[in-house]
Amino acid sequence: MNPPYPPPIDRVLYTEEQIEQRIREVAAEITARYRDRSLKLIGVLKGSVFFLTALARHLEIPVRVDYLAISSFSASKSSPGVVRIAKDLDEPIEGDDVLVVEDIVDTGLTLRYLLQTLAGRGPNSLGICTLLDRTSRRLVQVPVEFRCFEIGDHFVVGCGLDHKQYYRNLRYLAVLKPEAKG
Ligand code: 5GP
Repeated sequence: MNPPYPPPIDRVLYTEEQIEQRIREVAAEITARYRDRSLKLIGVLKGSVFFLTALARHLEIPVRVDYLAISSFSASKSSPGVVRIAKDLDEPIEGDDVLVVEDIVDTGLTLRYLLQTLAGRGPNSLGICTLLDRTSRRLVQVPVEFRCFEIGDHFVVGCGLDHKQYYRNLRYLAVLKPEAKG
């Protein structure tokens, strides 16, 4: 059975216009930080694709894009934060200024693993940019340099964030009804 549409949301957290405005501001910060350099954006599939695309369009520096996918076993209580690279980058990152682009940083466990792995490949620099940051649930510290919004402890969909692989395409960010989450 198809999931309901319109989606079963409690409320809209941020509208399309608010998100676009904030992405422009963060893109300006990134442009200023990396001026006179080139930047490699690394998107973590699939959630970050929508945000990365919107962000990259407003960067006024030379940009390359690469993607990786990870399988997370964070749900397992016996081995929290155990993740595996399911699809690796196409290109090496040695000597590159790298910015990892995330949809949301929650516990930080996924990102910590990813940063450790990427750091071992010899980039010139390694930064993090996230659409959403939920610091209240952080279990490990990760250096988030650029973020669009800090959010509270509610399950969010839209702008790349899914529920059972649906609703990534919503132009707004919304809190899903708890009963819909199942
Ligand atoms: P963590 O930082 O806990 O290792 O994991 C972050 C990942 O958990 C995100 O990339 C995302 O896939 C998922 N996640 C965490 N919070 C939410 C949320 O509110 N909504 C959705 N759709 N995914 C979330």
